[in-house]
Amino acid sequence: MRNREVARALKEIALLLEVEGKDKFKPRAYRRAMRAITSLGEDIEAIAKRDELTEIPGVGKAIAEKISSFLETGKIDLLERLRERVPVKVMELEAVPGVGPKTIKLVYDELGVTDLDLLEKAAEEGRISDLKGMGKKTEDQIKEGIQLVRVGLERKLLSEAMAVCEPIELYIAEIPGVRKVVTTGSLRRRRETVGDLDILVDAEDAAKVMDAFVVYEKVTDVSAKGSTKSSIRLEGGFQVDLRVIPSDSFGAGLQYFTGSVDHNVRLRAIAQNAGLKLNEYGLFRGEEKVAGSDEAEIYSILGLDYVPPELRENKGEIEAAQQGELPELIEHDDIRGDLHTHTDASDGSNTIEEMLDAADARGFEYFCISDHTQSLTIANGMDEARLQKCIEEIDDLNASGRWKPTILKGAEVDILADGSLDIEDEVLAQLDVVTVSIHSRMKDSKEVMTDRVCHALENKYVHVLGHPSGRLLLKRPEFEIDLERVFEVAKSNRVLMELNAAPSRLDLNAGNLRAARRMGLKVAINTDAHKIHELDFMSYGVYQARRGWLTKEDVVNTLPLKKLMRVLSK
Ligand SMILES: [Zn+2]
Ligand SMILES: [Zn+2]
Repeated sequence: MRNREVARALKEIALLLEVEGKDKFKPRAYRRAMRAITSLGEDIEAIAKRDELTEIPGVGKAIAEKISSFLETGKIDLLERLRERVPVKVMELEAVPGVGPKTIKLVYDELGVTDLDLLEKAAEEGRISDLKGMGKKTEDQIKEGIQLVRVGLERKLLSEAMAVCEPIELYIAEIPGVRKVVTTGSLRRRRETVGDLDILVDAEDAAKVMDAFVVYEKVTDVSAKGSTKSSIRLEGGFQVDLRVIPSDSFGAGLQYFTGSVDHNVRLRAIAQNAGLKLNEYGLFRGEEKVAGSDEAEIYSILGLDYVPPELRENKGEIEAAQQGELPELIEHDDIRGDLHTHTDASDGSNTIEEMLDAADARGFEYFCISDHTQSLTIANGMDEARLQKCIEEIDDLNASGRWKPTILKGAEVDILADGSLDIEDEVLAQLDVVTVSIHSRMKDSKEVMTDRVCHALENKYVHVLGHPSGRLLLKRPEFEIDLERVFEVAKSNRVLMELNAAPSRLDLNAGNLRAARRMGLKVAINTDAHKIHELDFMSYGVYQARRGWLTKEDVVNTLPLKKLMRVLSK
């Protein structure tokens, strides 16, 4: 789907027009179209093929022509002209939290700032705080924001990295003589964010693999090409290293390149103590190779159970593996349903029927619709009357027998400033799953935020705390909150913790998941899908759960419906 690319181009046009400052209305039109395209539930190319672009809200004839041109040629004339007239890297600057079109225009007009480096320099030299309406606090926020963006340039979300490496793996696998292709490193450990990609290949003919790799269609730069190792850079900035390793070393190579560094240091020490030597070629006693082709065999000879890659962080997994006490981690197939999804009744893109079709196709046993509530006005949140109608609608849909999954009635209810909820108890009492979330006042102090959340969890109709730390990976840090206290209050009120599977959230993080597990708190892995294809986020939730040492028993949406309802009946 190229929806995101198109939306990005329209956004850049809007920003450049705003910085140019000649026309007030045009940028608004481009932004409106950009938002509509972002929330489309359908591939924009399919819409263009049907010649129906102007049916998208906010897309008139002029913008539709520009979209067609972009889809056909990758270019929009107006955008090219604007880039010449206004030489500012607006998308780069706009990525900085707290920096919007007004700030970009101000620093460009007054200080000549055109990119991230110049913005950083101006902030370091205190020149931004001197500008009208800016001040020291804003300048500090900008400095902090630049650091976030810089990290983001080096690391990408796991979902983005997987979307890049899966087609490369397929491409390499088709080269004659290739036996195995595995991407190692932090991607294999399913870290939340990933830097460079490291691919290992077992192949008959290394030269053939190298020749094919450097001409992969998305390569923008070949930084090295050798007989068994090459490095390329791809469109979008990923660096990919590829190594061909002999079959009898492939397992050792996998172990070595998967990491983490800390895990491997420990493992090498264990080998040494046993009079062995471990490196990327194998496990050796003197000159003799005792293992190498099979990764699991290396762990076994060293006296350890096989450690799944998600656990290899030197966080106690080595000891657990030595004592035969590693948890039996949850698997994707254990999941029976999703307890947090949105429809176009609030800020989702698809109708309830489309979401249910998609849930059915994924084989779910139950599926909860949980749209936003009234305080979240930008998401068209529901008041009691609309929610009541939604409850009745779901009764009818369940009775229709059209879908295999049982439809659960839910809502994602806003936690207000004082910790109360924005929906009356008598309506909450009719819902199967009440998820409560923080969507406002995220800068509250730790004490205020903790009190707010704990107060909300004490409402007897609440079942789940949604995205408990509020972070957006590479964009927004976790808000200040004492999760230990939250977990205690949740436990005594029989409230579940959400593991939000959206790849930009993955909230709770692995350490917090382990803490929740130690306390005996149960977790719900939810996609928070706003479009049908986002239901596939579930796999990222399962990876993250595994990183948090969770078993099937720790996760409520592995339960059959009857047992789940017993848990939810509190
Ligand atoms: Zn939310
Ligand atoms: Zn949500």
